[in-house]
Amino acid sequence: MTPLLRGWCPDLFAPMQSGDGWLVRVKPRLGRIAAAEGLLIADWARRFGNGVIELTGRGNLQLRGLTLKSAEAVARAAVAAGLASADPAVERRRNILLSPLAGQGTCALACALECGLAADGSLAALPGKFSFGVDGSGLGLGGVAADIVLRADGDGWRVGEDRHAADDAPAAALLLARNWRDLPRRAASGSAPMAVGWLPAWRAFGFGVRFGQFDAAVLERLCGSSCAHGDGILHLTPWRVVLLSGVAQANVAGLAEAAGSLITQPDDPRRLVSACVGRVGCPQGSVDSRGDALALLAAGVSVDSLHVSGCAKGCAHPSPAAVTLVGSGGRYGLVRQGRAGDTPQSDGHTVADLARLLVAGGRAGGR
Ligand code: SF4
Repeated sequence: MTPLLRGWCPDLFAPMQSGDGWLVRVKPRLGRIAAAEGLLIADWARRFGNGVIELTGRGNLQLRGLTLKSAEAVARAAVAAGLASADPAVERRRNILLSPLAGQGTCALACALECGLAADGSLAALPGKFSFGVDGSGLGLGGVAADIVLRADGDGWRVGEDRHAADDAPAAALLLARNWRDLPRRAASGSAPMAVGWLPAWRAFGFGVRFGQFDAAVLERLCGSSCAHGDGILHLTPWRVVLLSGVAQANVAGLAEAAGSLITQPDDPRRLVSACVGRVGCPQGSVDSRGDALALLAAGVSVDSLHVSGCAKGCAHPSPAAVTLVGSGGRYGLVRQGRAGDTPQSDGHTVADLARLLVAGGRAGGR
């Protein structure tokens, strides 16, 4: 089936219908939430939805299994809690990705950009998927694409081809955005840092979230750990990792023990696998992407990066992967070193087929 390319992104005021109800997206400012805000979000997920929360590839939190009415209740609650703009048009274009664990100067620049974006009504026509990246101090934005990237460059900032003083960079980015139709196609560069486990240089501890999906109870546990062992702030990265900051080394063992199903080892093979919800929660999917991804891991498939996609839209991993499996008619097409939208090198595969093929390829040095 040809994927339905919706060309927009759901947000708090624009729920998207999915296989398990409606979903909405909370966009944390500066890519972080206080533990108290996390507890609120967990409560909304449980009370208004089916309790499932997804950490998206843009570092947003997606609540699933809502009705249209309960989605409205979440939007009202989020605005009241200061987690969203009250203006739907502003909320729609408020897509700013910030380098995780960024320091004060980078955060201040991102705040200035967000204020400028909100104040500029001429940007109301920006496509809903249009995003800004602020790549300054912190872990960087490795591997994440954005339409306009503001990148720290010595004591200034590079915006597009030009270099600006920090005070001028947000205005330069907004000027570029006004001419968004002329901007070159965005491209991802770099790669995601291994941000799981203890990061001593940052006094932070990263929890990988398998397939970016957890539930209200896990978010509540992370919030509790953040208060007990850190500074009460959770950083939501685009690499499907939640980082707790302000962690002392003495607390690391306790955090690892309380991780449950979350990933805390950089060499955990689940870190290398992306999969969307597939037919379980999306009408476009004809395969159980996540179930099949786990079956392939259990069969011993080991590749540098594996993307199991419910269809050619490739929501879970828009970038190329070493191996991409694309669901179609209940079977899979196989793309090597490409994206879900690329033409498969072969198709019609079952999971058992693929396990044999990929395990054999791995043994033959196909990693
Ligand atoms: S990639 Fe997955 S989540 Fe996205 S539209 Fe296709 S089946 Fe649905």
